[in-house]
Order: sequence, then C-alpha cells, then structure tokens
Amino acid sequence: MYNHDKSKELQSKADDVILGGVNSPSRSYKAVGGGAPVVINRGEGAYLYDVDDNRYIDYLAAYGPVITGHSHPRIHEAIVEQSSRGILYGAPTALEIQFAEKIKAAVPSLERVRFVNSGTEAVMTTIRVARGYTKRNKIIKFEGCYHGHSDLVLVAAGSGPSQLGTPDSAGVPKGVAEDVITVPFNDIDSLKEAISHFGDEIAAVLVEPIVGNFGIVEPHEGFLEAVNEVAHENNSLVIYDEVITAFRFSYGGAQNMLGVTPDLTAMGKIIGGGTPIGAYGGRLDIMEGVAPLGPTYQAGTMAGNPLSMAAGIACLEILEKPGVYQELERLGKMLEDGLLKLIKQYNIKANINRLVGALTIYFTDEKVDNYKLAEATDGEAFSKFFNGLINRGVMIAPSKYEAWFLTTEHTAEDIEETLNIVEDVFKNDF
Ligand code: PMP
Repeated sequence: MYNHDKSKELQSKADDVILGGVNSPSRSYKAVGGGAPVVINRGEGAYLYDVDDNRYIDYLAAYGPVITGHSHPRIHEAIVEQSSRGILYGAPTALEIQFAEKIKAAVPSLERVRFVNSGTEAVMTTIRVARGYTKRNKIIKFEGCYHGHSDLVLVAAGSGPSQLGTPDSAGVPKGVAEDVITVPFNDIDSLKEAISHFGDEIAAVLVEPIVGNFGIVEPHEGFLEAVNEVAHENNSLVIYDEVITAFRFSYGGAQNMLGVTPDLTAMGKIIGGGTPIGAYGGRLDIMEGVAPLGPTYQAGTMAGNPLSMAAGIACLEILEKPGVYQELERLGKMLEDGLLKLIKQYNIKANINRLVGALTIYFTDEKVDNYKLAEATDGEAFSKFFNGLINRGVMIAPSKYEAWFLTTEHTAEDIEETLNIVEDVFKNDF
C-alpha cells in the first residue's frame, strides 16, 4: 500500500493558502471519503508520479486533455520552440491560422472558428452568439451534462420540462436561471414538451452529443437527429458541447462520427494538447454576428496564444496518424473485458459504459443512459474502489460521475497491471 505522507503534509499547507486546498473542486477527495488529494510531482507517458515517489497508471488524463500522455516529446518540443520566439504577441500569428485550418478540415461544420482559453468560455460564448443571432433569450440543456461554470449553465432542473430552472450555485441570479430549461438526456418527448411550452423564446438547445459528465453515455439511436429536427422546426439553434468529445473517440468531433451536424460547436481539452484552450465556431452566417464583424462581443488577451496553438497543432498531428484510434479501441476493449471478468468473478454489483478509449464503471445493476440512473449508483462502493486504486497505483477521478481516459501511451502491459490491481481491490476491499 502506498505511503502518502508528503502529499498529506503539502495538502495541509495548501489548505492555508488555496481555498479548499485545490484549484478546482473536482480535484478534492470530498466525495470519496475526504482524504488529502495526492500531490503530483511529474508525469511521463501513461504515468503520474507523486511527491512521495509513488507511480500511478494514469486514467485521469487531466480530465481528458492529455490523450497523448504526459510530456509527449512532440508537444514538449513545440512548446519549447515557440517559447524561444516569444510567448504572447497580442497580434495574429501564422500558427493560429494553421491550427484553425486543421480544426476546420477535421470538423467542417466550424465554417469559422475562434480560439478562447477554456471550455467554459467556449460554451458561454456559443450561447451568447445563439442569443444574438436568434434574438431570443432562453436555452434548453440536458440533466447531468456539465458545460463549465458560467452562470447560465449552473442551473438545476425545475420539476418538469415545462418548468424554469433554479440556480445550482449561490451567486447565480434567479433571473438568469429562469432563462434555462433542463430536460433528461435521451428523452425526446421532454424536449418536445419544453419547446412546445416556451416556443419562440428558445434560442438554442445545448447538448453533449456523447455525454462525458455522468460517465460515458451515448445518445440513443435517432436522439440527436430528433434534437436537430425539433430545434430547427422551432427556429432554435443546436449547440454541441464537444469539450470532452472532440478528438476523443475519432479524429474530429463526435458529430463527424455520428453523422449529425449542429449549428454551433464548443471545444476544449484535447485540442490544446494539455495547454489551456477552448474553441468555438459554426455556421458562417451565425458566426458573422461576432465582433468585429457583428454585434455579439467576445474577446481575450490570451485567445489564440501561441503556446496553445503550437501544442494543439502538435497534438492533432499525433492523433491524425493512421491507427491511433484503432489502438485506443483495442486497449479500451481489453480494459473493459478484463474489468467485466473481475466484476463477475468477485460478484460485484457493477457494469461498464465504454466508447473507444473512454469508460465508466457504474456500481449498479442497471445500464446507465440518463443522469437519474447515474445518480442512483452506489457512491460508497465507488469510494472504496477509488481509495483501493489510489493506494495501489491506479489514478482515476475521485468521482463516480467521471470517465477513465486511455492515452496513446498506455500499453497492453499497463492494462494487465491495472487489472491485477483492480483484482486486489475487489478481493481485499470489497
Ligand atoms: N463542457 C464540458 C462537456 C466539460 O466536460 C467541461 C469541463 N469538464 C467544460 C465544458 C468546461 O471546460 P473547462 O473546465 O475547460 O472550463
């Protein structure tokens, strides 16, 4: 069992200077028993090393972005090379044009693109653009989907599809929440009901085309097509939040893989190769509403910063090589099959949702395809599982709602080692 003494010592110092000891609440271990989070010293390929020199096979992948593993030589070189020529200019670069061309070639619905610095910013801006274009105020989103921490998306569902939202965070005004209607994912009837109730007030329907925020949940056959149809009949726009999904399951967006096209798309995470990034874009006639061409304002000192552009290009160059996603699929299947075998062997009440190199273990008998089912899974079992793994060398997110992410650096040996550790946890801790 790992010793975490130095992590504990550092975290007690962190508590005195950084609010809650973490710079993002999802890094806290509050949901899994409240221990001190492991403090990381370095990452290398598929591994993280903490300040006590423990090694972890890393499936957190920084909540998704690190799909090429830690400190990938090509991304490292791209960043070092760019920084030797300056970090930030506040003026256009050839790099940002090259990167935009690469994104547009991979996801053609982004007829025009803008780079920002986080997924939160990207989604927040698509909503403003949609409101500016349609001259309507309300949006519809789906229960359990996370879209960053801007006011409009920190809104909880009302009691039904015809009910307005309520603030899901202190500081979000009731008036803002009343512009948001939240309906269950994979439930087209609820969407129809919300649209029929609020009709010409709805600027956009915002959706993760494949959910990554209550585990990996795929849309039912025809669901996204129906979202498009219902929204467009109502002259509302469709926004895809592809912050997790872009370049995760295939080269391009989930939209390309699934053959459905939104009006606007937000991206982040993977496209920055591990650096801070967001991007949004979509139909030309809609994007033309954005300043300096149009009346919808969005700006940023760091937007399109050369380090992120250089890292992003390098990352996409790694991912566009033939066979990358096939290998993620092969290892993903190996991990899923191995976990399912252990779940059966040790009689654990759990099942798995997986797509290519991303999976979630749900501690429940039911197949999870909406948020309510994910919420009902066994948090105590997850907590036992998480702590068992973190004490033996496997890093996953400290939340039952998050996914495991494979990287291009994981190997079959890593999967085997992971399965041995999981077996030890099931055998001794369950
Ligand atoms: N959208 C989705 C689907 C996300 O998963 C996240 C972050 N987990 C965001 C938006 C927000 O991105 P960021 O944390 O970069 O602001």
